[in-house]
Amino acid sequence: MPMRRALIAGNWKMFKTGAEAVDYVRDFLPRVAHAADREIMIAPAFTALEKTAEALAGSSVALGAQNLFWEAEGAFTGEVSPKMLAAAGCRYVIIGHSERRQHFGETNESVNRRVRAALQAGLKVVLCVGETERERSAGETFSVLDKQVRKGLKSFVASELDELVIAYEPVWAIGTGKTATREQAEEAHAFIRTLIANLFSAGMAAGLRILYGGSVKPENIAELMAMPDIDGALVGGASLNPEAFARIVLY
Ligand code: PEP
Repeated sequence: MPMRRALIAGNWKMFKTGAEAVDYVRDFLPRVAHAADREIMIAPAFTALEKTAEALAGSSVALGAQNLFWEAEGAFTGEVSPKMLAAAGCRYVIIGHSERRQHFGETNESVNRRVRAALQAGLKVVLCVGETERERSAGETFSVLDKQVRKGLKSFVASELDELVIAYEPVWAIGTGKTATREQAEEAHAFIRTLIANLFSAGMAAGLRILYGGSVKPENIAELMAMPDIDGALVGGASLNPEAFARIVLY
């Protein structure tokens, strides 16, 4: 089985100005200077990307964005293109986060267009999927994941998805303090990996990194990372504090 390098990613959501991001990075980098065996990514708001990129220069911490629009340029007021993100220093982009699906009308179809545009621009994608509490209670977890992955990756072939990461983020665990148990997370991750093997190839599935997201904290990261199909974490609230995020990185 190929080695999957752990990825710990911080989603700052709508927090931190450019100046606050620079202060954070100055505090954070020395704390994680010896974490070479794992990859770290930080996704600030659009307005803080360039300042964060400057502050991260020379470090191995990657910069990510929280969303993009699929067109390269044009009359799309308020939107940001893949090319603009790459020029701002981004290596990653988060796509289909549940907050975008819930509050901004993101659909599996629009997610698919975003994934394609991001990969074509040379960005690595963190594609977010996950069920709501109602869907879990109704026994629909796997059918929801199946649909989100299948439609989000519709019309791709395996060779186009080398730079794909999937984040399993149960909606009921995001920002709620309720973490999925490691068994619940592992079951969902294993389901996604098998689905990827069936849709694309066993080789792609074996190399695919699947992150867990949902109230990850310094106290619960180690038990999650001990599971065979959990290859990292997408961290919201706890990534806003450099000390807490460094403890998660160094679990
Ligand atoms: C997220 O924003 O992707 C997330 C998982 O948030 P939190 O860690 O705050 O639950």
